[in-house]
Amino acid sequence: MEARGIDNFVKFTYFHKEQNKSFKNNPFLPDNLFYNPEGNFYVCPMGQELEFIGQYQRISDRGDQSEFSLYQAKRCEGCPLRGSCHKAQGNRRIEVNHNLKRHKDIARTNLTSEKGLMHRSKRPIEPEAVFGQIKSNRKFNRFRLKGLEGVAVEFGLISIALNISKMAKKPSIEAKSSFKAAKLSLKNLIFDSTLYYRDWWPVMLNYNRFSAI
Ligand code: SF4
Repeated sequence: MEARGIDNFVKFTYFHKEQNKSFKNNPFLPDNLFYNPEGNFYVCPMGQELEFIGQYQRISDRGDQSEFSLYQAKRCEGCPLRGSCHKAQGNRRIEVNHNLKRHKDIARTNLTSEKGLMHRSKRPIEPEAVFGQIKSNRKFNRFRLKGLEGVAVEFGLISIALNISKMAKKPSIEAKSSFKAAKLSLKNLIFDSTLYYRDWWPVMLNYNRFSAI
């Protein structure tokens, strides 16, 4: 997205979780530790520096390459906060993907901006319902065709199928609403008739008596 100049409004995994007080107020989380970019070190809640000790690359199953930087505290032994800080043996070590962090910062700024809030308010009602229908109800979880062209064709077919099923359902929705309207008018008719007979049955009864005489 960045290479193509597309604004990033993508919600990352912890976007909602990090808005929680418990997340924001937890000083031990790597995201909440103070980072000094010039010196390339983190500072823990006890004021100790976690210094840079190396880097490594990770390649995901899909072939995506990520670079992680490792930071480690020098001495955690005897620290009164250790119980709340970490459970590992030895000194605390954290790993940070700075590129991911940078993208998350951009996404967070965009998502909480006025434009971001407007997009977010539309998302649950416009695309989410359709994706839910395709992915969860119709169990379409994976593309069978490869490449952009293949994916475009496959998704096009899925969209056409979904639209046809919507069109097929439309008359039944209309029929349902007309059935509801018919039920309502029948109810009103019965109610009106009841009122009518409540007011008129004594008169009618007398009329019948008089007719009999
Ligand atoms: S346990 Fe180590 S890293 Fe955690 S607060 Fe104490 S000194 Fe800092």
